[in-house]
Amino acid sequence: MEIKKKKILFCYFSPREVDYTPTDIGYVVAILKKAAFLEYDFEILQLNYEIGNDALDKELKREIIKRDVDLIQYYSPDAVFLFADNVLWSKVFALGRATLVAKEVRRKMGNIFLGIQSYKINNDQAIEVLDDKIFDCVINGNPEDIFLDITNILDQKYVEGVRYQKEVSFSKSDTLILSEKKCSIENLDNIPSPYLEHIFDNYIQERQIERKGKFRAFIISSRGCGFGCYYCFRSVKFEKVRYFSAQRFYDEMEYLYNNFGVCNYFVLDDAFLYSKQRLREFSQEFEQRVNKNKGLGKIQMFIMARPETIDQEVVEILAKLKVKFIQIGLQTVNPALQHYMRRTIDVVYFKKIQTWLQKYDIKLYLDIVVGLPGDSVEWLKETIRFAILLEPYSMQVKQFYMNPNTLFEVKRDEYEIEIDTMHKDFDVPYVVSSKGIDEEYFIKSNEFIMQRINENPKIWWKYISKKQRFLSAGFYN
Ligand code: SF4
Repeated sequence: MEIKKKKILFCYFSPREVDYTPTDIGYVVAILKKAAFLEYDFEILQLNYEIGNDALDKELKREIIKRDVDLIQYYSPDAVFLFADNVLWSKVFALGRATLVAKEVRRKMGNIFLGIQSYKINNDQAIEVLDDKIFDCVINGNPEDIFLDITNILDQKYVEGVRYQKEVSFSKSDTLILSEKKCSIENLDNIPSPYLEHIFDNYIQERQIERKGKFRAFIISSRGCGFGCYYCFRSVKFEKVRYFSAQRFYDEMEYLYNNFGVCNYFVLDDAFLYSKQRLREFSQEFEQRVNKNKGLGKIQMFIMARPETIDQEVVEILAKLKVKFIQIGLQTVNPALQHYMRRTIDVVYFKKIQTWLQKYDIKLYLDIVVGLPGDSVEWLKETIRFAILLEPYSMQVKQFYMNPNTLFEVKRDEYEIEIDTMHKDFDVPYVVSSKGIDEEYFIKSNEFIMQRINENPKIWWKYISKKQRFLSAGFYN
């Protein structure tokens, strides 16, 4: 007699208009598939990420949540896990929306098992959602390890990194478990690939059709970053740098290219340029593949990099690897704040970088942070002026926001950091005041930034702050 399999649904939130692949959940499912759990079916489900205006769009929001819950119900799952983080944007923390969705699922589907996974959820938040019986469990450790214990989780037995309603009486001083402590896999090639395990075949195919062959897939060659910028959550999540091999990287790319014609890739790494030797290996591997598979030469890559890892030779290699876009954090030119980025080079070095990039037609995306503790309106203006003079292709200007367990959070009192207390569905809070930063700073910097945006329409702008959001028309295309 055939045993009825239990259906487990992994849900995530992402905007429809942005090319996004939930590779973090893909790894979990690929690992579970390899581990041959015959009694379970695992499905990945995208839920809505529509921000709207809390005050005006209550009705719309109710409608969106209803649609999400109808979709979940359609799958008739035995258990639903909502993932609150985003594999790319560290500002995302969808605890608010996940809670609303879970409440509605609970109302409609009664005793279904509901869990939430996030690296960001803190003790108080975990206790609250368990106490209120919104979720049956909170998963705060590495899902790649933890979901291997899925049977124990559903039976609410002890699994490191998981908390249940029945255990909510633990002390508030308990620290939550972060991934690094349990992450045992040194060589990342030992983690099965979600692409090569066909987890995203249908997804990529659909997106390619939707985007008329221009879908940009995520691809990863390493995890972790050792720089430890004061505001950065990504380096908190994976501090130690670990690598996939060049062979594995290009196996995935060639698979996506051969089967779905994917030519555009966003490299999720924080450490793609850590080692020149490694870049040379990538270049060799890519050249060999292109010699046998000419079409691969059409690919385009978008990467992120630290300025100090770039020199002329690196840019030459990047051009050979078909890197067309590079995102670099300028953040601020304020000399008193360079240590937040652990930066030892002079910001003038950015000019050299741009000269090399222009030579090879690699387009520069610059990141700037508004409102870092100790900044001033004058230095913010100087930062924007300096950035525009570099003639970047695109600028992302974002108000400083607070992620858990970052150095700024640890030193919150020292920097007199106050965060926005308005409840948000999807985001970690903005820092609304800190040492030297007050309301006047934000009013004046907002005025200046908007003025420069209007004067420089050739640059693709993304400006996100509590006061204002601006996106150049067609930004995501
Ligand atoms: S360089 Fe800084 S911002 Fe980038 S990932 Fe590393 S710590 Fe984070």
